[in-house]
Amino acid sequence: MSNYAERNGDLWFSGPVDLARDPALRGFVEYLDLSPYEYMPHPLPLVNIGWLGWENGLQNTGSALLTDEDIERVRAASPRVGSMHLGFHDCEFCTGYAPFDGNGEYRYYAAGGVVYAAPGMILHYMEAHGYRPPQVFLDDLARGGVLTWDGRADRLVGVVRDVTAEWELRVEAVVDLANWKDSRALDAIMVAAREEEFADCAGAEIGGVTGGVRGQWPRD
Ligand SMILES: [Zn+2]
Repeated sequence: MSNYAERNGDLWFSGPVDLARDPALRGFVEYLDLSPYEYMPHPLPLVNIGWLGWENGLQNTGSALLTDEDIERVRAASPRVGSMHLGFHDCEFCTGYAPFDGNGEYRYYAAGGVVYAAPGMILHYMEAHGYRPPQVFLDDLARGGVLTWDGRADRLVGVVRDVTAEWELRVEAVVDLANWKDSRALDAIMVAAREEEFADCAGAEIGGVTGGVRGQWPRD
């Protein structure tokens, strides 16, 4: 039992686990592709991608074969990890000890309005195990491009500016606002950064957003 910890009702591995001998650990945080995301609180409705596990396996049934282009498409769209949870998620498909750090998750903002959430291991699942995400997701990534300001951005700004909102939600909003290279996003983040208490909680995320992409912001 010492190899995992419970957090927000879910189990997170904190060390190597022998799944064959510990079947109780199978299937934790495992969701069907394109099902509604409900793992962690987030200001926007999200759609699950790549939350794989023993129960449903790679979920590749009926899909085309994975190509290098698919992998590069997902890699190019995975610049930032949000939701840095405490703990690790070892790969359930690697045999033996797999010290893969599956911490965190990626979110992909499709131009059409859908937001996908995938575990940090999605690229590992693709490269090491041949997982191919649903075609609709790959198609959305292919459309890519610069996001135009929309209702999702307004919602995230509203959460960042709401001092009564849970700080976890506000942190996720800060991280995801970086998808828009827009002064409205930066303004909201800088206001939040001047709140001492919030900055204490979210300093790393704020620094990552304002430092990592600062050169791309129109204000700079
Ligand atoms: Zn693996």
